Amino acid sequence: MTGKAKPKKHTAKEIAAKVDAATTSRGGGKAGLSDRSGVEKGGHAKLECPLCKTTAPDVKSMQIHHDARHPKIPFDESKLNNLHTAGPATSDPNKPKPGVRGSLKK
Ligand SMILES: [Zn+2]
Repeated sequence: MTGKAKPKKHTAKEIAAKVDAATTSRGGGKAGLSDRSGVEKGGHAKLECPLCKTTAPDVKSMQIHHDARHPKIPFDESKLNNLHTAGPATSDPNKPKPGVRGSLKK
């Protein structure tokens, strides 16, 4: 092993990923509301609004959407389209779940 440089414990890529994880919004608080509701990305969405096809990751988010967009219509959870149980692809337990974060490339 003489003459060879020791391998660094942390590569530049690892550090960059840690910095990214520490500085990138993960969708908390009000700022991330649109992220969580799936309006912008749509990737994680589980539920779909039957009225305007807007998607949300959970019932709570959908209710927030519903109260904001369709205040005159009573919120009915049973009328929501559940995208996770709709397709045959979701029944495969070996199928990797999509990650929360997007591409690492900037
Ligand atoms: Zn809607």
